[in-house]
Amino acid sequence: MTFKDLKLSSALLSQLEKNQFAKPTPIQEQAITPILEGKDVMGIAKTGSGKTLAYVLPLLDRLQNQPSENREIQALVMVPTRELAVQVSEAIILFSKALKNPLITMAVYGGVSINPQMMKMNTVDILVATPGRLLELMEKNAVKIAKTKILVLDEADKMLSMGFREEMDQVFARLPKRLQTLLFSATLSPKVSEIIQYLTLDPVVINIQVPE
Ligand code: ADP
Ligand code: MG
Repeated sequence: MTFKDLKLSSALLSQLEKNQFAKPTPIQEQAITPILEGKDVMGIAKTGSGKTLAYVLPLLDRLQNQPSENREIQALVMVPTRELAVQVSEAIILFSKALKNPLITMAVYGGVSINPQMMKMNTVDILVATPGRLLELMEKNAVKIAKTKILVLDEADKMLSMGFREEMDQVFARLPKRLQTLLFSATLSPKVSEIIQYLTLDPVVINIQVPE
């Protein structure tokens, strides 16, 4: 299978080619189509299996043709750590800049001053955030998520084992009722199963088994 078979738009295909991504990994093969169709997707695959692009590519494909009116957050990506926030936002920016209407992406995390993050927030389309800082920004009314269309939980297992559930629940409560939810995790722990049931009704579950 090729990325072209997955019906990604030509701007994304040429950026994949330019960056020498020759063919999709198994999780990308299975996750991209249902995400493009607007379904909720839960993807379980081990570390290093390409989960980032499994959601970044279809997310950008879906958002590119519906530019925001006054730049409210279109997609919210929640991640457990600052390192991952930076890494994921860099992947989004690499592919977003190839679009005709690039989407503005920002990473926010704790341990640094909140003021510069607050000032830039009203120009952001895609926000990548750790739960604690996200909640802080919300409590200051700096983040507009009433029109968010896609929620991603990346490294959901790690986010839950780090004890972020309470912050996550407070964020979920402020999101629109109807939105596309994507969850990616290296493991399907009981906490991950529980949050899947809590967040989605009938998700497409993709569990990539490691061959023996
Ligand atoms: P995971 O989130 O599952 O741990 P990542 O998304 O971080 O994995 O990807 C791991 C590495 O594989 C990254 O360096 C990424 O650029 C690379 N990668 C992702 N997709 C592909 C692909 N289709 N072909 C080649 N390399 C890829
Ligand atoms: Mg990852």
